[in-house]
Amino acid sequence: MTALFGGAVDRVPVTSLAGCGGTATVDVQDAVDTHCPEAHKDAEKMARLAIASHELTGIENIRVPFDFVVEPEALGCEIRWGASPQSVPAVRTHPFEKPEDLRMPENLLEMDRIPVVLEAIRIIRKEVGDSLPISSLALGPFTLAGELAGVEKLLIWTVRKPVYVKEFVALVTDVIVEYAKAQYRAGSDIVQVSDPTASPELISPAAFKQFVKPALTKIAESLGGPRLLHICGRAEMITPDMVETDFDGISIDEVVDVAKIRPLVGDVKILGNVSSKSTLVFGSAEDVKKEARNALESGVDFLEPGCGFSPITPIDNIRAMVQVVKE
Ligand SMILES: [Zn+2]
Repeated sequence: MTALFGGAVDRVPVTSLAGCGGTATVDVQDAVDTHCPEAHKDAEKMARLAIASHELTGIENIRVPFDFVVEPEALGCEIRWGASPQSVPAVRTHPFEKPEDLRMPENLLEMDRIPVVLEAIRIIRKEVGDSLPISSLALGPFTLAGELAGVEKLLIWTVRKPVYVKEFVALVTDVIVEYAKAQYRAGSDIVQVSDPTASPELISPAAFKQFVKPALTKIAESLGGPRLLHICGRAEMITPDMVETDFDGISIDEVVDVAKIRPLVGDVKILGNVSSKSTLVFGSAEDVKKEARNALESGVDFLEPGCGFSPITPIDNIRAMVQVVKE
């Protein structure tokens, strides 16, 4: 927390606070004989896996949940869970055709797995006390809107029906704020808002400014508590806008040149950017160390995977990342 709020720290923390991947890798699941997809649906198992991922790797925070479909499921999308521990659950149906189809549920915090995630946060808080920060996930507004309506449809609407996009994004913004505030109340220290569908790989910087930035700004302001923003891909194109949304830190992946965006961020902290999809998964421990050193030298404030850990990340590669910081 000191690193996030600008105090003096003895070294850069090595964490997995933000990003799209979770922390419950298959190696961690096997080590504590607690597996996904069951752990996505059971607060005790989710808490056990999250704590184990810290204990077994040395990553300096605890994080839940491990999937990206909690809010879409709660709002009525069907989910494809996948059968194996390395499956990443995905939204199977996008049932919302127009803004009128979507309503804020009266009992959002009781819908589907939302109580499971909140209970997992409570269990973790009790177990770890105040010795470690807990981070929790709320989907970003454009990503959640994309899951509800279908990403293709949402992208077409940015051109043909901008009013639809604005209404969808406004509705999901209320959902995100209510859910995220409940995460703080349950004991989470940091809410990370991940918005992969708002990446410059998918929408133009102009569309980001028009549709996403106002919603993110409202979310940051409404949350009040410690908050991080993660957007994948070439985020340097939208870095000044990300900074202006007033999150405390931005999480970026390996395609972003940290040294280049450093002068643009002011007091906002940079988290990243060891390659989640290539080096951490397929590289050797030495490759990971090299990339981690580069990230530190280029000026990250938190050493993190660029986009969270993929479930198939070897545990030795995560340990290598931790080791670099401790050395
Ligand atoms: Zn990502």
